[in-house]
Amino acid sequence: MNEIALTVHQTARPDGFPTTGDFSFVESALPEPAVGSALVENLYWSVDPYHREMMDDVPGGFTLGAPLEGRTIGRIVASRTPRLAEGEIVFHRSGWRTHSVVTPDEIRRLPRFEGVPLSAYLSILGGTGLTAYVGLTRIARLQEGDDLFVSAAGGGVGTATGRFARLLGAGRLVGSAGSAAKAGHLVREVGYDAVFDYHEGPAAELLEKAAPDGIDVFVDNVGGDQLAAAVGALREHGRIVRIGTLSQYNTSKTPPPDFDYAHIVEKSIRMEGFLVRNYLDVQEELYEFAVPHLQSGRLVPDATVVDGFEHIVDAFLGMLRGHNTGKIIVRGHLSEPHANRTRE
Ligand code: NAP
Repeated sequence: MNEIALTVHQTARPDGFPTTGDFSFVESALPEPAVGSALVENLYWSVDPYHREMMDDVPGGFTLGAPLEGRTIGRIVASRTPRLAEGEIVFHRSGWRTHSVVTPDEIRRLPRFEGVPLSAYLSILGGTGLTAYVGLTRIARLQEGDDLFVSAAGGGVGTATGRFARLLGAGRLVGSAGSAAKAGHLVREVGYDAVFDYHEGPAAELLEKAAPDGIDVFVDNVGGDQLAAAVGALREHGRIVRIGTLSQYNTSKTPPPDFDYAHIVEKSIRMEGFLVRNYLDVQEELYEFAVPHLQSGRLVPDATVVDGFEHIVDAFLGMLRGHNTGKIIVRGHLSEPHANRTRE
């Protein structure tokens, strides 16, 4: 076990894209668990787009100069409660730090399925996969043969959506992503039929070329002009699954999408947003659906794994700029010190 603990704090509110200067790494002695709690050495961290929203001065946002939160998997290394045993692997939300003190009520025990790596509980079997699964099964209410368009198709939710949609019998699967390399991966590995780079022109034109016969479902991680394009491309009884608004997280200047509202009526379109935290009861169903496919190799988690906790901020910033393919995950392993490190 490492004898020091590192914790990431946010130190400034960004204007636009955040930078490494908005964070600091605070070094301290290992925290001592109080009676009734346990010390966890963290092994895997999730950094997520919603962390960018929490960096702003918003209700429930990150407090400056305090540890951040995030989904994490770790191993209990010292316990002062009979309800948590040393050596146990647990999931908790006190992330962005090498070590966390947790109580039994703050952790979740992860079921272990043979052949399924731990990191999958932060990607395809975790909140990311659950978001994709709920989006398809509960919000889109996907029917066999439905043609889909997925924005930010190369990210965690986007790749999981593509892979699940294939297994659920979707028809034509079209996506958008930020680079040709991502588009290639999505077509070759994930099962998309066509993927366009959204930088290459107006979204409506690119979508029209990729899905000339229209779409039944739009799974939207981005908003903006891709949402407007999808409204135009949707067929009668089309569904828009509003998952996120990546086009707005780093700018307050993006105008709302401009589309013909009459389409919503004339094509009987249903647009519905959701928060995955309101669908935690679907988690068991996701395991039942996905685990056999993971074990048979029909389903593969897409992830970009960044090694070393000291790279967690870079991993987060890189994800906002599209450096990840699949879910971005940070894997524990301390190496060189970080420039922004201070001692508590
Ligand atoms: P992700 O897609 O793995 O990572 C973010 C991706 O967004 C980047 O890789 C980048 O890929 C893309 N991006 C960044 N700026 C963009 C822009 N201006 N326009 C278009 N694409 C942009 O992240 P994720 O965790 O899977 O999350 C995807 C979406 O789901 C987010 O909107 C997130 O907030 C949302 N979400 C919602 C819920 C919920 O409960 N509703 C739960 C989880 C996630 P490119 O290279 O393609 O640009």
